Amino acid sequence: MSRIVALDTTDIRFPTSLSLDGSDAMNPDPDYSAAYVIVRTDAEDGVDGHAFVFTIGRGNDVQVAAIDALAGHLVGREIEPLLDDMGGTFRDIIGDSQLRWLGPEKGVMHMAIGAVINALWDIKAKRAGLPLWQLLARMTPEELVDLVDFRYLTNALTRDDALEILRAAEPGRAERERELLATGYPGYTTSPGWLGYSDEKLERLAREAMADGFTQIKLKVGADLDDDIRRFRKAREVCGPDFPIAIDANQRWEVSEAIEWVTALAEFHPAWIEEPTSPDDVLGHAEIARGIAPIRVATGEHAQNRVIFKQLLQAEAISVMQIDAVRVAGVNENIANLLLAAKFGVPVCPHAGGVGLCEAVQHLSMFDFVAVTGTREGRMIEFVDHLHEHFVIPTDIRGGSYMAPTAAGSGMEMKAESIAAYTWTGRHVGV
Ligand SMILES: [Mg+2]
Repeated sequence: MSRIVALDTTDIRFPTSLSLDGSDAMNPDPDYSAAYVIVRTDAEDGVDGHAFVFTIGRGNDVQVAAIDALAGHLVGREIEPLLDDMGGTFRDIIGDSQLRWLGPEKGVMHMAIGAVINALWDIKAKRAGLPLWQLLARMTPEELVDLVDFRYLTNALTRDDALEILRAAEPGRAERERELLATGYPGYTTSPGWLGYSDEKLERLAREAMADGFTQIKLKVGADLDDDIRRFRKAREVCGPDFPIAIDANQRWEVSEAIEWVTALAEFHPAWIEEPTSPDDVLGHAEIARGIAPIRVATGEHAQNRVIFKQLLQAEAISVMQIDAVRVAGVNENIANLLLAAKFGVPVCPHAGGVGLCEAVQHLSMFDFVAVTGTREGRMIEFVDHLHEHFVIPTDIRGGSYMAPTAAGSGMEMKAESIAAYTWTGRHVGV
């Protein structure tokens, strides 16, 4: 038996606003940041659990404080019973009624819970000697459903529904694992499309993305329609008529405005419109979906919990579901989200980019392929090519695909020297 001896948090910020990397219609100057947590134990193996919440700068200190507020749930406790029953551990922390009051199950506190849950999964995977995707994909259907909190889901997804989905995918698991290790999981890239980039940079990066083998690119839109038309036309010229190009408004529009704006861009055949309006507006998304069909609506990077995903699916508001590894309460809630998508037959194309999101979320898509939906058809993981060098196990992209990680853990561990170099001191490194 070993005990959790510390929950160490760090406020880490990268000065990405200086190069306009990550700039979009709602977020003109993001500083990619991580509210970072290390769960330490007194075990002789020396294995620590690493995880983080992604933020874009100011507010990271609030997020760190929220993670600190969870120390009482973990420090001093024996870790093996927590790891052996991750479903129970999840429900225990989620159920802290005084902290739950701040949500319930949404926002800063919910994301903080996600960080500690993900840190525990990191320890569990490292102790098992497996990458997270493989650890999950080798659990039995019964063990997997025990991880999920079905509260508020049962009018759309029951435990029996989930078991049926997971059992149906059981026979081909070993073969799909081999396939995944050999060929990886498709990626698409947002690198060409940041709003702050010049047309020349957009064209160059779009050309590079195609040459690199990515299956889709994405452009940020929503600040100025004439600019969007010009940029989309240039991207189409570079990529040709058939290459998938998605667009992303980052919540910029009113519902009717979204329908008008996307209709004005329809001649360029967007593969989907992402986050057209408020992430909480389920019925608004449904209205947009009806208004712009057959153009697909995608959202989810700001969907605060499984209940919002359930409603988006029930209302036929989305045709593409975009889970995020660190927006909800960690691996457990994202397994619920994957099962919901599978139940409704909607493909999951995760949100990534930021700092560490690619490293983290690939495990969930890979688990989905091996043990949930059994398919990569119509599915891909977002990829943005920066800040990967700060991670102990950086993404390995080949031919536009994410190669399956084989190192043990959840992939969220940042290099110690990067943590030290980018720990926030009130001003940016080198500025
Ligand atoms: Mg987006």
